[in-house]
Amino acid sequence: MPEKIVIIGAGQAAAQAIATLRAEGFDGSLTLVGDEPFAPYQRPPLSKTYLAGTFERDRLFLKPDAFYTEAKCTTIFGVAAQSIDRSTKKVTLVDGRTLSYDKLLLATGSRVRLIRVPGADLPGIHYLRSIADVDGLRPTFKTSKHLAVIGGGYIGLEVAAVARKYGLAVTVFEALDRVMARAVSKPISDFYEKVHRDAGVVFHLNTGVEGFEGKGKLEAIRAGGKSWPSDVALVGIGIMPNCELAKASGLTFGDGIHVNEFCQTSDPDIFAAGDCTRHHGRDGAHIRLECVQNAIDQAKHAALAMAGKPSTYREVPWFWSDQYDLKLQIAGLIREGDQTVARGDPASRKFAVFHLRNGAVAAVEAVNAAPEYLVGRKLIGEGAHVAPERLADTAIPMKNIA
Ligand code: FAD
Ligand code: NAP
Repeated sequence: MPEKIVIIGAGQAAAQAIATLRAEGFDGSLTLVGDEPFAPYQRPPLSKTYLAGTFERDRLFLKPDAFYTEAKCTTIFGVAAQSIDRSTKKVTLVDGRTLSYDKLLLATGSRVRLIRVPGADLPGIHYLRSIADVDGLRPTFKTSKHLAVIGGGYIGLEVAAVARKYGLAVTVFEALDRVMARAVSKPISDFYEKVHRDAGVVFHLNTGVEGFEGKGKLEAIRAGGKSWPSDVALVGIGIMPNCELAKASGLTFGDGIHVNEFCQTSDPDIFAAGDCTRHHGRDGAHIRLECVQNAIDQAKHAALAMAGKPSTYREVPWFWSDQYDLKLQIAGLIREGDQTVARGDPASRKFAVFHLRNGAVAAVEAVNAAPEYLVGRKLIGEGAHVAPERLADTAIPMKNIA
């Protein structure tokens, strides 16, 4: 057992790591450093119910304050870690403090990708990653008329759905030819595009934004050679993993801090978990995941390894998104060339798409279809082979397929 563990980054992964470390019997000193002025909180409600104003701020926090006291975890919030000296095993904070460690966990997450076009610093242009971002954006929904969403990914579409409830006109500009293209298959993209169009959202696909226009504040979006009036914009064009500390201290990285199956970096005393990492997935592919499940499960495995009980990370990835009355749940990773099997009718707003790879269930995308998601996730974990006709047959309940 190490004597001193330091965790950098106070987000989803950090909160889990603290809980697992203590549950697994680590009784040494534990310090959490976060650059935001808050204890770890959940981000999913930020673009959904918290933005909609139906989820109170207090409920965002992953653990009550008493959790950190009871876990004897020293917390330092509102202060960033600046550097790591691996030879002396010390972390230096921006305020000059130093913390020594036996084991270190990097849980630094990710940050928004900035749009770099003329006018990008005009007032009225927003991003969404933190509590502070929503607190800046939500009031504008009450005073604005026309929201431009740049990027038709998860953030863009979830915000579009909330903005329609506020009564704003919404136009989405997406660089690719379909929405949520990185995350879902074409049938699901097509379904969500239609749902949003039916709700009054206007789409410009294959359209990168060329600039923002306005005198002193946002007035229009420049895209496709034209100006589109807009008084508020939300940019959701992806994220960048926070790898700078790892890079500066010589750890192996590249679009994510490289970790092995125990969430250990190229330095055996430094671990990493969550959005900031890149690891070999269940099929061997080198992947970077951006989801709550990965942050929680990697944090558990990193904590187990730091507590001297290494266990291989092989969990099936899963994701979800809430838009309007629809819950999208995804398990597994979709790949080009998968055989797709539709189950149910999209018109009923309750259906699923299964993905088979070499005959085995490799992924499932389920819309308002919890049994398909839950059984699908189990089948993926087992590497089960299921005949496509059975998956497609809604007369056979999912529990019988399991
Ligand atoms: P984070 O939770 O981002 O925490 C990292 C923390 O480290 C941050 O507070 C960061 O500021 C801090 N930090 C970085 N560098 C330093 C430093 N040098 N010193 C100190 N602190 C530092 N996922 C889902 O699965 N489902 C969803 O529905 C979903 N919705 C989302 C909605 C929104 C609006 C956003 C932004 C994300 C959503 N996600 C969702 C993604 C999910 O929230 C992330 O994958 C998850 O938060 C990653 O956890 P993490 O601990 O790796 O990073
Ligand atoms: P995202 O899902 O990667 O989507 C961003 C989209 O914007 C991509 O399709 C991207 O296309 C497009 N884009 C890039 N540059 C553009 C430009 N200049 N003009 C127009 N479109 C452009 O990222 P996100 O929606 O911003 O989400 C950020 C993070 O939050 C991610 O980690 C995401 O997983 C997380 N999140 C998750 C959920 C959820 O799981 N439900 C919800 C909200 C947020 P290219 O691929 O070509 O770059």
